[in-house]
Amino acid sequence: LVRFSGVTKCYGPLTVLDKLDLDIAQNEMVSIIGPSGSGKTTVLRVLMTLEKINDGVIYVDGEPLTHMPKAGGLTFATEKYLHERRSKIGMVFQQFNLFPHMTALQNCVEAPMQVLGLSREDAEERALNLLELVGMGDKKDQHPTRLSGGQQQRVAIARALAMRPKVMLLDEVTSALDPEVIGEVLNVIRSLNSEHNLTMIMVTHQMGFAREISDRVCFFYEGKIAEQGSPEQLFGDPQNERTKQFLHAVL
Ligand code: ATP
Repeated sequence: LVRFSGVTKCYGPLTVLDKLDLDIAQNEMVSIIGPSGSGKTTVLRVLMTLEKINDGVIYVDGEPLTHMPKAGGLTFATEKYLHERRSKIGMVFQQFNLFPHMTALQNCVEAPMQVLGLSREDAEERALNLLELVGMGDKKDQHPTRLSGGQQQRVAIARALAMRPKVMLLDEVTSALDPEVIGEVLNVIRSLNSEHNLTMIMVTHQMGFAREISDRVCFFYEGKIAEQGSPEQLFGDPQNERTKQFLHAVL
């Protein structure tokens, strides 16, 4: 469903993604782990089309996401083109980024109406179903400031799902949460994965959760995948020295 082919991303002299190859199948749950600065968040940001890449191609559903047709081939996509393609991808951030002046429900209907052209009635019905799904149906008329961090994050997940993305990106979604509400957000992600078969890519520091829920875990080091495998293999029997060192330090 998602393919990174030789993707390089630089910030000035710093190469953050280094000829990255990564394939993600439909319905797969992939976790990305690795040391700070290894490029984990950048993988999500370039896939979300928030950043342009310097080389390589990213495909979603067989179509180039980062490139557009040009006579005789492909060329790097313009900002406008990237922006148009953004609705294929849903992203949930560490900081929930809800619109503060809107209720939970309004947060979830805005993009489907503006970007997908849904009627208010249809957008609200979709949003209500999703707020129920994340256990926030009874808080639909609350503004974000009246919600706990865990509740805001569940609204943010519903908002991303309202666009019916092909793939959901989760960037350290529990890092800004108090320990007592982390579980409620992880439960929502767990059910999206097990009951709704969403394709998800998750950057996380929650090694226990990554181990429990992932189909595959990728260990990033210096902008490349140093090692990847099933959770049992990667956590239980890592082969790469870097992976061993990292797991030793964090577990
Ligand atoms: P962490 O676990 O700390 O979030 P990460 O693996 O997600 O780290 P990235 O956020 O992908 O790392 O960043 C990779 C490198 O790119 C870092 O060295 C970072 O300083 C650099 N970087 C990220 N965004 C920018 C930017 N907008 N301009 C310049 N450098 C950047």
